[in-house]
Amino acid sequence: MRQSHYHLPTLREDPADAELISHKLLLRAGLIRKIAAGIYDYLPVGLRALRKVERIVREEMDRSGGLEVQLPGVVPSELWVESGRWSKYGKELLRLKDRHSHEFCIGPTHEEAIVDLVRQDLRSYRELPRNFYQIGNKFRDEVRPRFGLMRGREFLMKDGYSFHPSYDDLDREYENMRQAYSRVFERCGLRFRVVEADTGAIGGSSSHEFTVLADAGEDAIASCNSCSYTANVEKAEARATDPAPGKPQKPKPEEVHTPNLKTVEEVAAFLGMTPHQKIKTMIYDTDLGPVVALVRGDDTVNEIKLKNACKAEWVLLASDETVRKVTGAPPGFAGPVGLKIAAPIYADHTIQTLVDAGCGANREDYHLIGVNPGRDFQPKAYVELRTVRAGDACPRCPNGKLDLLRGIEVGHIFKLGTRYSEPMGLSFLAENGEKQTVIMGTYGIGVSRTLQAAVEQNHDADGIIFPHGIAPFDVHLVCVNANQPEVIEVADRMYDLLRRSGVEVLYDDRDERPGIKFKDADLLGLPVRMSVGAKGLKDGVVEFRRRKDGETSRVALAEVETFVKTHLLRQD
Ligand code: ATP
Ligand code: MG
Repeated sequence: MRQSHYHLPTLREDPADAELISHKLLLRAGLIRKIAAGIYDYLPVGLRALRKVERIVREEMDRSGGLEVQLPGVVPSELWVESGRWSKYGKELLRLKDRHSHEFCIGPTHEEAIVDLVRQDLRSYRELPRNFYQIGNKFRDEVRPRFGLMRGREFLMKDGYSFHPSYDDLDREYENMRQAYSRVFERCGLRFRVVEADTGAIGGSSSHEFTVLADAGEDAIASCNSCSYTANVEKAEARATDPAPGKPQKPKPEEVHTPNLKTVEEVAAFLGMTPHQKIKTMIYDTDLGPVVALVRGDDTVNEIKLKNACKAEWVLLASDETVRKVTGAPPGFAGPVGLKIAAPIYADHTIQTLVDAGCGANREDYHLIGVNPGRDFQPKAYVELRTVRAGDACPRCPNGKLDLLRGIEVGHIFKLGTRYSEPMGLSFLAENGEKQTVIMGTYGIGVSRTLQAAVEQNHDADGIIFPHGIAPFDVHLVCVNANQPEVIEVADRMYDLLRRSGVEVLYDDRDERPGIKFKDADLLGLPVRMSVGAKGLKDGVVEFRRRKDGETSRVALAEVETFVKTHLLRQD
């Protein structure tokens, strides 16, 4: 591709509304432009890179037995009513009406559509298992679209769905997909972790996220420094290390006047204890009414764990009004002893080992000391509730400690079970002649997010450093002196040679100053830059420079063809 005829508008300055380096680079190097919040155009070079990611995904899906289909972007509401999601999915779902006032949505994901497709033809166990996938645009009206392609509203996703006669068969396919996903992200040149993820109410360890490590990532993950345990902080657990409880010294709780003390630390110090010996009492509003969550004073409540524990659709930190209703006091003095209404109390496991603890007294400016769980209050359940912290003991191995890392979720695999097949009546005749419900798995890759994640992980001060697998072109051929006919003549020849050899080449034949061309080449970051200039030609050589590490080779004109075959056609 000759750059003089190509549309590659680059920007010298950082765009004002981009925060992430990868977002800035995608804009500056001319890959994308914004058309509305979370909605982007791909320019030619951006689309080439996106297609490279897409191709890797498609190849690995096909290789592992996936069958490509294409489901419509616009999905009739009836299917969503059948699955129960029409009323449950919130404002992220973009709903619309056609001229006959029939309701539709733009698919944010396609479980309903694929179940409808499969149930039209599936009869017998002989037609199972199946794994269908598609690569297409999704729309989610995200509350905070941001960071460019990372959290878009319209974005490219590969979504896949598998159908099984048994849970064992689902387990087999889940493993197959896990390996396929690992190959996809390896080929995209990413450093990632496979992370245990929250499964909501379904439970079990049947969901994994593929998370690209990056400080700017929105996801927090906990990873053991000694074994392979890695989990999203939404789900990560730690081994309790508190000693077994001793005997309570206080026969009953005592009230202490604690005026003008604001923080947990201040109150604990005043009560003569550490925050770890205090009970932190948090009140939440949920769709099931108010609930009370207890963790130790130096911990925080993990709202996802709380939501799973109380089986609520949503949990939200309680309003002042709810706090007063539950405790009879303003916020800041809540405690589990003597609540005004019988809201269920969920206590973290670590509360069970507290003796003579401190907590709020449900009375303004008062706290209690000498509080003992089980004696002075009875939780509805002891559950996993706290958010893990760096340095916590690994739940899987004896000596490991948890590190906290940040990352970007690029893929997600999930054992769905019968969540959709049951309500939508997707069944088959089993070998024994009985009608059975199909067991499903679901698998997603954020294709556009993966592209940006790759840039977030691979760049330097000068620009993008495209991993070979997803680079829009393999080589940036630069005609350094595009005003000298003898240089142009050689550069043109090199352009033909590269193309003939099967190398994808972007040929900077523009009549621009060398400095500008090199800057643009570094900004776009194709894996190899090949420069043809007057200086080199005096010695009969051209220069190859690897973007990744700046390694440079001067190659005699007669040797170029061999060099290209041995060095440029190889995947790195
Ligand atoms: P997140 O927690 O980031 O919102 P999700 O759990 O909603 O992701 P899934 O429903 O599992 O995501 O979608 C599958 C994949 O699609 C994700 O792993 C992610 O890579 C991608 N994805 C999800 N939402 C977006 C978005 N708003 N913009 C770009 N990619 C997205
Ligand atoms: Mg989401």
